[in-house]
Amino acid sequence: MHLDWHDIIARGKRGEGLAEAEALAIGALSSPEDLDALLDAADAVRLHHKGRHVNTCGITNARSGRCPERCNFCSQSAHFQTEAPVFQTKDAATIATEARQAFEQGVREFSIVMSGRAVEREADLAVLEDAFGRIRAETGMQTCASLGLLRKPTLERLKAAGMQSMHHNLETARSFHDQIVTTHSYDDEVETVRAAKELGMYVCSGGIFGMGESWAQRVELALDLRALDVDSVPINFLNARPGTPLEGRRDLDPTDCLKIIAMLRLVLPTKDLVVCGGRDSNLLDEQRHMFRAGANGVMMGNYLTTAGQAVAQDHALIEALGMSIRPPPHQPHPPSVPPAIRAEGTDPGALADRPALLAPPGT
Ligand code: SF4
Repeated sequence: MHLDWHDIIARGKRGEGLAEAEALAIGALSSPEDLDALLDAADAVRLHHKGRHVNTCGITNARSGRCPERCNFCSQSAHFQTEAPVFQTKDAATIATEARQAFEQGVREFSIVMSGRAVEREADLAVLEDAFGRIRAETGMQTCASLGLLRKPTLERLKAAGMQSMHHNLETARSFHDQIVTTHSYDDEVETVRAAKELGMYVCSGGIFGMGESWAQRVELALDLRALDVDSVPINFLNARPGTPLEGRRDLDPTDCLKIIAMLRLVLPTKDLVVCGGRDSNLLDEQRHMFRAGANGVMMGNYLTTAGQAVAQDHALIEALGMSIRPPPHQPHPPSVPPAIRAEGTDPGALADRPALLAPPGT
């Protein structure tokens, strides 16, 4: 299928996402010229809707391990023998301290993540209510949580306590979901997303790529996210954990990752796209192209059970590309980057040139 980039950019700027056939055709692009055209289109649409701002989010793993669910990518499932940390719910003061530390490192949205099918115990909800209040009062960061398969009454309670965003991934396409998650259904995931949307929350929902899904299934997921009208799409690339059924799996090269980001930008032109887990281990040096591919956000610091790259490197890249961190909604100006976390000896100018052409796949 011929892709008319001029028309795709024009439609993207009007907020119109790709047709399914166009999104499917992106999967077949392989020449440096075609890949360059793809990234240029995604870049133009991102710039139009998001400008030069970067959303930064950070997380705390507030309860880890012993999860009764079976998600084949996850080292926190009790079904697998892994080395993921196991601990009970942190207290609110500890969570708030971690949030403050993240804020000082440039994070502007902070998510509290707990393992388990659904966080519903009174003691956990009380910790969350306390933590949201502290984080809002002490940092003004946008507050978020990822708490499993929540339903409206719990979401309403947490929203009243100051939870602004709800994170819940669909994980993968409906047609592939039962090969990855065997203890709950795709419809369970969708119900959680719908409940938060109906309550007017900012909903962050995406998935993990590189688990064995086809390109058509990546497009299927993107179209479902569009139909659900999620506000932000976290893009994770599998960093297969030892002891999980996906151990040893490595499907994606950096070019695949950029194509996935670009396809999502062009399917969901106006939404926030945040590159999260597996960013450095899958994109490698091509991380410098992730914004050109259409992303407008990154998760900073550590991921749930794996370490992220140094925060200073992220700041150096954002600065070198002439971008800035988007402030939380109530702040009038982007906060400046504290000097202490600038990369020592980094020459921003070294990265400022327009990114070079992508290497052809497989090189
Ligand atoms: S992804 Fe969440 S629900 Fe699934 S096993 Fe891991 S912690 Fe449990």
